[in-house]
Amino acid sequence: MRIAAALVALTLSAGVAMAAQCSPDKLGTERVQPVGTKRGLEVGLKTYPATIPLADHEVILTFDDGPDAVNTPKILDALAAECVRATFFEIGRNADALPQIARREVLDGHTVAFHTWSHPQPTMRYLPGGEAAARADIFKGMISVEKAAYGRDFTGLDPKEPKDLKPQAPFFRYPGFADTAELNAWLAANDVGVFGVDLWASDWIKMTPEEELKLVMSRLHKSGDKGMLLMHDNHPWTAAMVPALLRELKAKGFKIVHMVAGPGNGPTVPAPPGWRSETERVIGALKWRLDKKSLGRIVDGPIPVKPAPTE
Ligand SMILES: [Zn+2]
Repeated sequence: MRIAAALVALTLSAGVAMAAQCSPDKLGTERVQPVGTKRGLEVGLKTYPATIPLADHEVILTFDDGPDAVNTPKILDALAAECVRATFFEIGRNADALPQIARREVLDGHTVAFHTWSHPQPTMRYLPGGEAAARADIFKGMISVEKAAYGRDFTGLDPKEPKDLKPQAPFFRYPGFADTAELNAWLAANDVGVFGVDLWASDWIKMTPEEELKLVMSRLHKSGDKGMLLMHDNHPWTAAMVPALLRELKAKGFKIVHMVAGPGNGPTVPAPPGWRSETERVIGALKWRLDKKSLGRIVDGPIPVKPAPTE
């Protein structure tokens, strides 16, 4: 407990220092949004019919799949230079390998959350070991991130469930957004929120930083000039793009909202009328590949999913 308090003090002092040094020409972090996950939460319009309420031109930045030895520090430098705070959904085994980068994210004032331990391909939905294997991988990832990022070591304490960890940021995002009703219910029972996303950079596809910037800005506009954005901090093209993205957001009058763990549940806002899940299309494409693979016609490897023609 004393360690936790010291960490909070460190994090707060880092945040205060950042605010003091931030001049008005920087993008900055406009406001902090506490998000409560009591009895579970499902947000992000690509998957769920609800999201975090944002005002016009407000954006939440999220990064998945790190930490990465080369690209994550570049992104952290870019965020620090503009006094911007984001949320990192980390892969547990990457956090195990690079604890100093996971720790830096926390000390820089960012929210660090969970994205499984092994990021299994074929996702949590089609894992050979079924739901038990999925739970074990998610939980192991949480323990790794709590240790690497927050300095909370559960070795020898034998925690059984996510709620036993009392996570610093009980936010979880599924690889490929491939949730299941059973896993969502388990996470809800553990007061862990499930985070989809409102828009994505499609940066799992290799592109130039210029192409990615153009894509992100056009999608932001199509999303009503606001939303929770997903990027990946393990890709060089994204690391190269982030400084330009932050300048562009500043130039176009966007404001950054930083999500942190909060009390209670929410806030959320319902999806607009006519909403539908877009991630089921992505997961459906993946399932087709897996079915083909089971017939021996497709080899192992990452499964790229191209954006729909309408995106
Ligand atoms: Zn991922």
